[in-house]
Amino acid sequence: MQVRQLFDNQSSTYTYLVWDEASREAAIIDAVIEQVDRDVRLIHQLGLQLRYALETHIHADHITGSGRLREYLGCEIGVHLQAGSECADLELVDGDRVQLGSQHLEVIYTPGHTDTDICLLGDNMVFTGDILLIHGSGRTDFQSGDAARSYDSITGRLFCLPDQTRVYPAHDYNGYTCSTIGEERQFNPRLGGGKSRQEYIRIMESLALDKPKLIDLAVPGNQVCGQNV
Ligand code: FE
Repeated sequence: MQVRQLFDNQSSTYTYLVWDEASREAAIIDAVIEQVDRDVRLIHQLGLQLRYALETHIHADHITGSGRLREYLGCEIGVHLQAGSECADLELVDGDRVQLGSQHLEVIYTPGHTDTDICLLGDNMVFTGDILLIHGSGRTDFQSGDAARSYDSITGRLFCLPDQTRVYPAHDYNGYTCSTIGEERQFNPRLGGGKSRQEYIRIMESLALDKPKLIDLAVPGNQVCGQNV
């Protein structure tokens, strides 16, 4: 399984292009609408067939490029069932497999940042959306976020993956690009090193973050796959 990490400067979002080398079937994870032309060009240059545009959750900080990618390239859009999306072709649930040639991405339902969070587990790599960030985790104070569920998703569903599994999150604000499950289990300052659920909840409740600038535009926009822009 091949992967390219792409970045949107404005929202600090990582978009991932993942493909099966033999069949050239590809999926894009968390596309950003402003970057669709870049992504389409790269897909063509690499000779890939885009089968799926997947969302790790309904984002609050950028508008998805999935609707436009479907229009241009005919891919199917996949998002978790709980999102109640008006536009998705695939309503994903825990255990679903998104097939790319002979390889696949497995859906792991990991609510906590929102109630629509999924991680996508590939070949020795996991795309964690905003639930698990590098040495951090996604905020839990809006969009049905819940710190206790976040702790359970990360420790119960992700920290049991093999140590060397590469972690690819949807954002980074500190210059990191990639981590591993072993590194996060040991060093994540919020819940690594065996921190308790109570301690994690206390940390998350004390963050006092500003509301994302685009939330009132992005959430409804993403419920229709960015097609109202
Ligand atoms: Fe998010």
